[in-house]
Amino acid sequence: MRIAFIGLGNMGAPMARNLIKAGHQLDVFDLNTTVLAEFKELGGNICASPRETVRECELVITMLPAAAHVRSVYLNEDGVLAGIRAGTLAVECSTIDPQTAREVSAAAAKQGVPLADAPVSGGTGGAAAGTLTFMVGATDELFGKLQPVLAQMGRNIVHCGEVGTGQIAKICNNLLLGISMIGVSEAMALGEALGIDTKVLAGVINSSTGRCWSSDTYNPWPGIIETAPASRGYTGGFHAELMLKDLGLATEAARLAHQPVILGAVAQQLYQAMSLRGEGGKDFSAIVGAYRKPE
Ligand code: NAD
Repeated sequence: MRIAFIGLGNMGAPMARNLIKAGHQLDVFDLNTTVLAEFKELGGNICASPRETVRECELVITMLPAAAHVRSVYLNEDGVLAGIRAGTLAVECSTIDPQTAREVSAAAAKQGVPLADAPVSGGTGGAAAGTLTFMVGATDELFGKLQPVLAQMGRNIVHCGEVGTGQIAKICNNLLLGISMIGVSEAMALGEALGIDTKVLAGVINSSTGRCWSSDTYNPWPGIIETAPASRGYTGGFHAELMLKDLGLATEAARLAHQPVILGAVAQQLYQAMSLRGEGGKDFSAIVGAYRKPE
């Protein structure tokens, strides 16, 4: 298949590499010329604008930082919708607000381009391994067409409902993740302060009702889970800045829906304070620092 891929960052680049490995022909665009040079080596066709990138393709995939980038890449003069042919399929994989996903999808539909939102979870490791989860908002027909290609970049391809519902699933999940990481941090720190061995405590939690992904796979306490960022100085993983962005999406969506997100708002402020301390580039599990004396 001839695929246009726009946004070759930490997530987009490994996703696009998997598509090349699967035998697709890629037209690519990014503002970063270094990554474009790498894709030239891999056989990608380097383009000068989103408009040029989509001219010949059957499918366009975008993986951009935030909603403003998505709007400009699709709607600008030299954007995707200025160059695309009717009947081309589109998948927007960035994490953005559901409203922007719906608006861009509606603009695409006017040109005969069905567009799905399909944000991912699984991080850069999952992107490289091709094991991402895609949360897809699309009609049944579009989902059926996209599923085989998404399965070349991911393991779980979930149809969440109509366009926008992929983003809803993503922001609700990350709202819970941001909160649960703080909950585990609070419990682990209290345990240590009261005098229990933190490994023993983690073992009890992980075989009891407090168990969750933040405790049994990604525990924020150093030395509990060898593969977790906490055991390598909170490097790599999912940056606190990105968690802060996702909590901002969740609290803003909640505001528009007149829905309380009480713990989400507190969590957002805790990650905000972490960002202010200059720790936004650390893995989000470093939020445990809010409960520990500095070493
Ligand atoms: P990133 O910043 O590494 O990559 C974004 C890429 O988009 C960059 O290469 C940038 O040059 C490019 N770009 C920006 N504006 C552009 C434009 N106008 N035209 C073309 N290219 C442009 O970000 P990332 O980590 O790859 O994340 C992408 C999206 O995926 C974000 O919405 C993020 O929230 C989401 N996400 C990230 C992770 C993660 O672990 N990094 C996990 C799940 C979801």
